[in-house]
Amino acid sequence: QAKNDGRSTYRFFEDDMAAKIKQRQTLITDLYKATANRELEVYFQPQVTLENGEISGFEALLRWNHSRYGFISPIEFIPLAEETGLILEIGAWVLEEACFLAASWPKPVNLSVNLSPRQIYCEQLLPVVDDVLTRTGLDPGRLELEVTETMLLADHLRVRQTLAKLQEGGVKISMDDFGTGYSSLSTLRRFPFDRIKVDRSFVMSMSKDDDARFIVNSVIDLANSLGIVTTAEGVETKEIAEQLKAEGCTEAQGYYFGKPSPPNQALVWMLGEANGISLEDQVNKKQN
Ligand code: C2E
Ligand code: MG
Ligand code: MG
Ligand code: MG
Repeated sequence: QAKNDGRSTYRFFEDDMAAKIKQRQTLITDLYKATANRELEVYFQPQVTLENGEISGFEALLRWNHSRYGFISPIEFIPLAEETGLILEIGAWVLEEACFLAASWPKPVNLSVNLSPRQIYCEQLLPVVDDVLTRTGLDPGRLELEVTETMLLADHLRVRQTLAKLQEGGVKISMDDFGTGYSSLSTLRRFPFDRIKVDRSFVMSMSKDDDARFIVNSVIDLANSLGIVTTAEGVETKEIAEQLKAEGCTEAQGYYFGKPSPPNQALVWMLGEANGISLEDQVNKKQN
């Protein structure tokens, strides 16, 4: 009996693995066609200046609306795109689409775009960014590229030179998900980041975890003393937003100020603000 159970469990596991591998292959094949099929979309999540509550920028976040499976999370398909090298094509598309849209926004706020490791190791990054900025007409000073510290761990001189050249051209470089890597503090010494984004795992635990609050506050103090702008990610409540503001955090991003949304929603928020309604009120008091 026990043996049988073991076998059937094993076979179930085997089938499950086979199914997973097959699904992975299908997704990779579909991903190759996703751009041409117009299944990829750029969503925008707002960022606010905590001091005055005004919209300071938007982060471009990729969405894949698969014809059969519906929305697939970037957590699932970015790694596939990275492994296959497709991320170069997709990344260039995101950059162009996001810059094109941002260039026509009624308020000249920042645009942050995520970079993947393959992109920053690629020789083509500088010409691609240059070309996109020229063709879309976006002011380079409005563009921020987000990298994670693992991308700098290898400490390639060439990567740092590429990022430095982007900065010389006026583009800003942010460190995303700060605190989740192995050597966050030493990464700060390796490169002059314009912004630190405090990882949402710390921010979301602030209200119930003293250690998390202590870490967030320390990062903010450190960044302030180094003259680096801070963005807290994953701000879901007014209480957290107020604590962060009191602590001297520069900007906030999170569901409390708006979820990643289609381009039109970003426009609506900016126009609402121009008409005197803060983003916070637009998002949290819709029914009034
Ligand atoms: P990220 O760059 O750290 O982006 C922030 C993620 O946090 C987004 O997840 C966003 O939806 C989520 N988030 C924002 N505010 C809150 C909140 O208040 N609560 C919670 N629970 N979550 C919040 P998303 O859109 O699923 O993206 C996941 C990751 O996928 C991104 O993390 C980024 O690393 C990657 N990604 C997304 N778009 C792109 C892209 O165009 N290129 C590359 N290379 N990576 C991308
Ligand atoms: Mg940003
Ligand atoms: Mg990001
Ligand atoms: Mg992040």
